[in-house]
Amino acid sequence: MTSLETQVVVVGGGVTGVAVLRDLALRGVPAILVDRSDFGTGTSGRWHGLLHSGARYAVRDQESARECIQENTVLRRIAAHTVEDVGGMFVLLPSDDPAYAKQFTAGCEQSGIPVEELTAAEARQREPLLADRIEAAFAVPDGGIDSWGLIRSMVADAEARGCLALQRHPVVGFERDGDRLTAVRVHDKAAGEDRLIGCQWVVNAAGAWAGRVGELAGVPIHMIAGKGVMVVMASRYVRGVVNACRKPADGDIIVPQHEVAILGTTSVQVPDPDDISVDPADVDRMVDMCAQMVPSIGHGRVLRAFAGSRPLYKPPSQQAQDGGAAGSGGDTREVSRTFTVLDHASRDGLANMFSIVGGKLTTCRQMAEHLVDQLAPRMGVTTPCTTATELLPGADHGYHQLAGPLARIEAEGAYGELVCECELVTRDQVRDAIAAGVTELEDLRRALRLGYGPCQAAFCAWRAAGALCEHADADADAEARLPDPRGALERFLQERWRGQVSAVWGDQARQTLLNQAIYRGIFDLEATGEYDEAGLFAGLAAGESAAPGPDRAAPADGGDPSRRVGDELVGESEGRAASRPAEGRATSRPAGGTA
Ligand SMILES: Cc1cc2nc3c(=O)[nH]c(=O)nc-3n(C[C@H](O)[C@H](O)[C@H](O)COP(=O)(O)OP(=O)(O)OC[C@H]3O[C@@H](n4cnc5c(N)ncnc54)[C@H](O)[C@@H]3O)c2cc1C
Repeated sequence: MTSLETQVVVVGGGVTGVAVLRDLALRGVPAILVDRSDFGTGTSGRWHGLLHSGARYAVRDQESARECIQENTVLRRIAAHTVEDVGGMFVLLPSDDPAYAKQFTAGCEQSGIPVEELTAAEARQREPLLADRIEAAFAVPDGGIDSWGLIRSMVADAEARGCLALQRHPVVGFERDGDRLTAVRVHDKAAGEDRLIGCQWVVNAAGAWAGRVGELAGVPIHMIAGKGVMVVMASRYVRGVVNACRKPADGDIIVPQHEVAILGTTSVQVPDPDDISVDPADVDRMVDMCAQMVPSIGHGRVLRAFAGSRPLYKPPSQQAQDGGAAGSGGDTREVSRTFTVLDHASRDGLANMFSIVGGKLTTCRQMAEHLVDQLAPRMGVTTPCTTATELLPGADHGYHQLAGPLARIEAEGAYGELVCECELVTRDQVRDAIAAGVTELEDLRRALRLGYGPCQAAFCAWRAAGALCEHADADADAEARLPDPRGALERFLQERWRGQVSAVWGDQARQTLLNQAIYRGIFDLEATGEYDEAGLFAGLAAGESAAPGPDRAAPADGGDPSRRVGDELVGESEGRAASRPAEGRATSRPAGGTA
């Protein structure tokens, strides 16, 4: 078994863990971060992409609101290149409670969030696709932020300062001597062996999985996994973030992210943070509710749907007061979005471990600062925190611009070199990323946005797999390091298809099936060793004659029947919301609290 030695081991490579790593690095403390997978594959890769102004929490959760507006300002400065400065708006519809608007503006003022009331004409000038009738609109400094860009920059900065970050090294246990942890046992997935990392301190930043890591160390942490489903539309629809001016509830926010819009979200407690399944009914509800603010969304093309688990935490005192958490299946919007640092010395008699739980992506830097401010004096470190002022690499380029990638392609004259036309990813970018150590196509997706666009990797997947092969052919060391390209292709495509299963209908479902059939057939993805045309299309033929799925009504116009194809895709006619019977559509607005 190989071993490493450091001062602090940070568990979890989401935004919180990498922010802790960077904070330690800036204070000169040697540290190693480990994640069970690629960085940003937990909740930090499964969220809306909203740089909160805090306005969403201004009425019910002002502590979180204040944290958000402070960090909104800091991230705009230190991580400008990952921020899209699109602004945000809260719109009051005729069906909303006008009293909420008053509470909202008062809450924003009390929390220090700049808020400006807009006339209907001003609101429509900013957002031309808004509903015809709105009662009021308020502008706030919301923004968009790219979490993978943020994570990459923080890891790069921390590594440049001597720290180390290891992907695909899940923590599988701890070595303990009396009241101290002496080493963290990780499993190196690439090498297929366990490694020990000797250390003086452990920081548990495993988000929704913090309870499981706590269990391995023998400390109880009661996390509440709050699943949220989000829907990706095939274009942006809005110029800035559009929120409903009401208590946070399902389908009340539209966030423009790169070329798409993300609609959100549900908030339901699930027993397992790895439960990221999506119910088609949630997709319908999200689209219907967001279409009340921007009607054209109701007739738009849904690209995919996905879900993530909020790392929510209630202190034991609060749990006792309200008789426990929301309960499995319960709404988790009442749980505060603020964060808590757990010192396991005073709490559990484990002298050298801290956990950090709760919070928002927007507040990750502040979370790290609070934790390291408690940890540093115990290590004898007096260097103050500088993460709020030290720019991340790339931040001096200013805000991310939507047209930036196109400008780069034009400047480089690289049109003929595109691997992914939707996201404007070039062959050189793919080659450079592989040469820099990226081995999985899935990681290329997070690094370069490969496969995110309207074709959902139909055209780029095989080209990127080809680049992996070329690299392996040219370099014997790389060949040993790189995974079987066909396996990488299959994992990459499975992830794309998974997001489409509960979200696409009609002709789009047929197109997705055809893409699958082509890929499975040409690349023999099921490794049968032969091209099985009859088998490939058997599922499709079976689906053609299948009865309508139990959760899908036949369209009211008597057109194309609902279809279930090989139990993979559930479809009905194109223009789903428009063609569904009125009684089947979500009309009531669920009560809510915090999103
Ligand atoms: C639906 C939804 C929408 C959201 N929208 C927003 C928003 O718009 N704005 C905002 O600011 N926040 C938003 N959030 C909240 C935000 O995404 C999270 O608070 C944040 O990403 C949590 O980051 P984290 O680093 O604490 O957790 P994670 O990103 O989950 O990181 C934890 C890491 O620990 C790793 N890990 C787990 N077990 C182990 C182990 N045994 N060994 C090693 N590693 C392990 C995981 O792989 C993971 O990478 C949203 C959350 C959800 C669910």
